[in-house]
Amino acid sequence: MELRKDPITRSWVITGDDPTGPRVESVCRFCPDAASAPQVIATMPNTGGVPWSARALVHPTPLYHIEGEPGRRGDGLYDRMHSVGAHEVLVENSRHDHHLWNASDAEIEWFFRMAAERIFDLKRDPRIKYVSLFKDYGGSAGQEFSHPTSQITATMFVPRRVLYELRAGREYFLTKERCVFCDIINQEERQALRVIESRGDYIALCPYAPRVPYEAWILPRNHDAAFEHTALVRQGQLADLAAILRRTLQRVRTFTEEFHLVLHTSPSSQHPSKTLGYWKTIDDDYHWHIELLPVLGSKARSYTFKEVYYSPVSSETAVKQLREAKIDG
Ligand SMILES: [Zn+2]
Ligand SMILES: [Zn+2]
Ligand SMILES: [Zn+2]
Repeated sequence: MELRKDPITRSWVITGDDPTGPRVESVCRFCPDAASAPQVIATMPNTGGVPWSARALVHPTPLYHIEGEPGRRGDGLYDRMHSVGAHEVLVENSRHDHHLWNASDAEIEWFFRMAAERIFDLKRDPRIKYVSLFKDYGGSAGQEFSHPTSQITATMFVPRRVLYELRAGREYFLTKERCVFCDIINQEERQALRVIESRGDYIALCPYAPRVPYEAWILPRNHDAAFEHTALVRQGQLADLAAILRRTLQRVRTFTEEFHLVLHTSPSSQHPSKTLGYWKTIDDDYHWHIELLPVLGSKARSYTFKEVYYSPVSSETAVKQLREAKIDG
């Protein structure tokens, strides 16, 4: 596997011929009693009669490897490099059937704390420019393991979608001296057309221009560029984040079980790039958030036109249905 850069869009892709093909999981490697668990990186303490509450492990078949040098090199007009970075599995819960929508808020809090610690730690590596946290749930979403897990990749480049957000956030800030995400939250709270719910310092809403039906974002209402900063410094607020994520997932799951979840946080600013200037105002112009992208098989057309998203349910309709969805509490 290697990284190649598309010279037109400037986005990096990971490519190569995968000799292993689809992997079939026979026994769970992530349950506490697993015989052949991957290498453990971090463990959150035991609470309530379980051996541990959350864990980070090396991905058993990592796309990125921590050892070695990137070996950036040209190939005529093209750029390529080795897939150096980190690829971890975050086990959200020691219990095989406690997911982010049916676990307790305290359990979900431990998962957030571990995620924050891993992101903080990986960002200290001078080679790492960005740390992504994501979860794919369901066969069509690309789910890999049956145990409740999310994944982290730490890369030497900023993924394209985040780069768009960083550039847009910086441009907005340059002209208005305000954070575009804070302005979105203010307007959405004022208009109350697309807000799913507010809870403590957090808000869940349907974005004005959704990419897929029932797309939902969760944002802190008080400005903060880095998720790990909020999670490690304002720990008291994690219970509200746990609750709003759990409740939003329950709402979405009344329409489809399958979804992608991604955390967008600020890039590593400890080792700013000299060529890319978007780090200068990053603490003021970027605002971390979670994006939830449900996968609806019946609306699959929306996924065939990736360049112009087609979402056959408006946010104003989606938000009404999500608000009225029957959830456990
Ligand atoms: Zn398991
Ligand atoms: Zn903001
Ligand atoms: Zn985002």
